[in-house]
Amino acid sequence: MLPWCLAFLFLWVGGAGAAGSSPEILFSSPSAYQGDVVLLKVRVGKGETPMISWLEREIPMVPLGKGEWYGFVGIDLNCEPGGYPLKISAMPSGLEKGVRIKVESKDYGERRLTLPREMVELDEATLKRVRKESAAINAVLETSSAEPFWKGAFHAPVDGELSGTFGRRSFINGEARSPHSGVDLKADQGVPVKAMNSGRVVLTADRFFSGLSVVVDHGGGIHSMYFHLEKILVKEKQQVAKGEIIGRVGSTGRSTGPHLHLGVRVNGARVDPLRLIGLSKELE
Ligand SMILES: [Zn+2]
Repeated sequence: MLPWCLAFLFLWVGGAGAAGSSPEILFSSPSAYQGDVVLLKVRVGKGETPMISWLEREIPMVPLGKGEWYGFVGIDLNCEPGGYPLKISAMPSGLEKGVRIKVESKDYGERRLTLPREMVELDEATLKRVRKESAAINAVLETSSAEPFWKGAFHAPVDGELSGTFGRRSFINGEARSPHSGVDLKADQGVPVKAMNSGRVVLTADRFFSGLSVVVDHGGGIHSMYFHLEKILVKEKQQVAKGEIIGRVGSTGRSTGPHLHLGVRVNGARVDPLRLIGLSKELE
């Protein structure tokens, strides 16, 4: 494996990492874009713990040993471009460092569809159902185990081609709809779907748009979502290991054929799952 700094063009920001000096920080890239994931590596003095905050949220960090820690920063798909301060404090010394993550806009393309009105407009009962389902999933995504269950790399949940259509904006009959906040992975009906990493199942449901759906909390602010399943093979509150089969590929809900819709949230931000898979390979 390449050293981190070469593999990722990591930039060390700050001085020496000896005890008593301020924390040092490495980013996987000098700038980020909407929907991106940034891998952080932090070095603090002996016996110190880093506390990292970004956009008023704490970034959970995992110890690597020898005073080094790592964690992921998620940049939401709709994050306004600009520079955002990231603060690192070493505890208990209280030594601090502030850096900025520059977020750039990214054009993921758009799709315009014209569909018959009856296919697009939802009746009152369906609207009510959709709102209830959206509140339920948002509540689940707001909470995450402080203790990370995940370890090392995040793997693709199905074998085969990873077709990334993350972030694409869609317009139906000229009206803006929510952008595609995950990727659609090509797979045949019935193919096993595996947990990307270890975690706890926090939602299993049959939803109007996403059909049979599973949400896994990997702890430390990371969630993965698996939609349109033919079958769910886990229960809520169940602990799952990395690679464990949680369901089978299907086409339930609003879907035009068998595929897996995979979504990832990092600290609540909608990010490109393929970025998390790619970046986390370095952690194997
Ligand atoms: Zn999708």
